[in-house]
Amino acid sequence: MIKGIKIWAVLLIVCVSTMFSACTVRSPEVSKDIFAMDTFMNIRAYGENADEAVELCVHEIERLEDLFDAQDPKSEISALNREKTMEVSIDTADIISRAREVSTITEGAFDITVYPIVKEWGFTSGEYKIPDRDAIEALLENTGQDRIVVGSAGEIPDEKEVLVQMPENYEIGLGGIAKGYASDRLMEIFRQEGIGSGIVSLGGNVAACGTKPDGKPWRVAIENPDTDKKIKALKNTEYIGVVEVSDKSVITSGGYERFFEEDGVRYHHIIDPKTGSPADSGLISVSIISEDGCLADGLSTALFVMGREKALQCWSEHKSMFDCILVESDGSVTITEGIMSCFSSEIPYEVYRQ
Ligand code: ADP
Ligand code: MG
Repeated sequence: MIKGIKIWAVLLIVCVSTMFSACTVRSPEVSKDIFAMDTFMNIRAYGENADEAVELCVHEIERLEDLFDAQDPKSEISALNREKTMEVSIDTADIISRAREVSTITEGAFDITVYPIVKEWGFTSGEYKIPDRDAIEALLENTGQDRIVVGSAGEIPDEKEVLVQMPENYEIGLGGIAKGYASDRLMEIFRQEGIGSGIVSLGGNVAACGTKPDGKPWRVAIENPDTDKKIKALKNTEYIGVVEVSDKSVITSGGYERFFEEDGVRYHHIIDPKTGSPADSGLISVSIISEDGCLADGLSTALFVMGREKALQCWSEHKSMFDCILVESDGSVTITEGIMSCFSSEIPYEVYRQ
């Protein structure tokens, strides 16, 4: 068995011109790299409070990781996975509710209760294996996010803790949504600190605050998911294209990010909750562009599971909430019409309108 590799890549092209005209005042830049939530992260801010803002962001990521990491026995999610019913912090209740929202609009393609199945395939430990079908069938019995209850009747909304109840044998994992949730919190910190220009990349999940210091939109490159360079239509390029954004998140999910191979077949880490196996929808990467990073993270995983047709259907029904870039295994690229004017690419692509 070829052990899987996690290819992390900085999807980001931060085009900060170092050549400022004589009359431009240069904003101080503060940039920090950290490793958290199992990935490399970069936090960058410009302006007077940049130092403090970046520091606060690092602490916030660490605080959220301590709550959400299902692999850490001391985290709140681990406690919930053991107890099944318990009072949790507002953040934990909030992210579970957000996951529920994504699950609802994607008809269950996003489902944090597939965590025991993700574990069974070895994606949490790195000890990859193809599980027995019977084992998967048994685990599928204990999935379905609609059976998790957040909050009890009569709860006072501003209480510090919220009751979460899940059925016996349930376990949840937030790997498909936690980075997007965190990036939204970082954008909040930037705003509170008066940062007008900043960008974060949490393992390729990018969130842009304001514009670049020169007032132009941030340029975020979308990685070519064809890492083996086998798909002719994708022309061996490093990037599928570039999106120009301000105050938006650009989040990509792809089967190339974490996988293993056995007998020439590739098994990746995005699970179809209907089958309990890696999604096989014909899509090889999905990027979501949205003001809502948490939604974008959940949707990038879910639309990858749904496949092109259902993904575009979902977009048609919720187009005010997001846009997307879909890449298929034959190299076809589709973008939705909302990003038409801010997407550029050297390879041919179709614009989906409705
Ligand atoms: P990454 O975390 O590599 O950026 P994703 O955001 O697509 O990629 O999340 C993938 C992770 O989400 C998996 O490693 C797993 O923990 C979890 N996951 C896998 N399938 C699903 C699913 N259908 N719904 C929700 N979470 C999932
Ligand atoms: Mg995701």
